[in-house]
Amino acid sequence: MLSEFDVLVLGAGPSGSEAAWALARRGFSVGLLSDSLDSVYRLEEAAQEPPAGGLMAAAWSPDPWTLQRRAKYLLEAEPRLHLFQSSAAALLTEGERVRGVRTWEGLEYLAGAVVLAVGSFLGARLQSGDLQESAGRWGEAAYPDLYRDLRERGFEFAPAFYEVPARDGAPRYRVDFMRFSAGEWDPESFALRRYQGLFAVGRVTMGGLEPSQRARAGMRLGGELQPV
Ligand SMILES: Cc1cc2nc3c(=O)[nH]c(=O)nc-3n(C[C@H](O)[C@H](O)[C@H](O)COP(=O)(O)OP(=O)(O)OC[C@H]3O[C@@H](n4cnc5c(N)ncnc54)[C@H](O)[C@@H]3O)c2cc1C
Repeated sequence: MLSEFDVLVLGAGPSGSEAAWALARRGFSVGLLSDSLDSVYRLEEAAQEPPAGGLMAAAWSPDPWTLQRRAKYLLEAEPRLHLFQSSAAALLTEGERVRGVRTWEGLEYLAGAVVLAVGSFLGARLQSGDLQESAGRWGEAAYPDLYRDLRERGFEFAPAFYEVPARDGAPRYRVDFMRFSAGEWDPESFALRRYQGLFAVGRVTMGGLEPSQRARAGMRLGGELQPV
């Protein structure tokens, strides 16, 4: 099966969701593909105050679960946006241009531009006490295929990690993951340099370290990107 969008956004965390919502509201058809629709716009902790714009402002609540529920509702209500659950396993390319992605089930989705907003899930290892597993967050598996595909295409990565304190019944844990190394990505245009039409935003990049900076980057990308 082939579906076609103006833009395909991989990862419905805050940065991908913001980008997808802004693009759809600009009139583009957008596919927002994410591993789990249970974790759309999942925040690691409550945001301190509403931002000036974007999906977070429209869905605003100081309670992260309420905000998440409202954000998902707004994404689903956006007519040009199609939100669906799957895992991107490989890019589809033609020469120097990205053409879309293939999912783990073997379905192919075509797009004029592809945005990687896959957060802390590339090459991810979660550690909590003696437990170690391939996960980008507590209870959320990280599959190896996309990372392997990007490595085989020559992309270079830099190791990163983050630590989450114990809360909501989950113990303290640490995630080691990979993000694109500085030379791969242009922070002004969000472009990844190895393929035309390929972009990255959020934690998977070397962009701003503050959580709100990463999500604001999604808003900016969504406001500026011009898919071919
Ligand atoms: C104004 C503002 C303030 C904020 N303040 C806070 C705050 O105070 N505290 C806070 O915790 N956060 C805050 N955030 C959110 C924060 O920016 C993000 O939680 C964090 O930076 C990571 O977001 P991300 O979108 O890069 O990645 P993630 O949230 O990790 O999302 C990545 C998504 O990609 C999916 N994925 C991974 N691999 C694949 C694949 N191969 N195929 C398909 N899907 C895949 C994952 O399942 C996941 O859902 C704020 C956001 C905004 C807008």
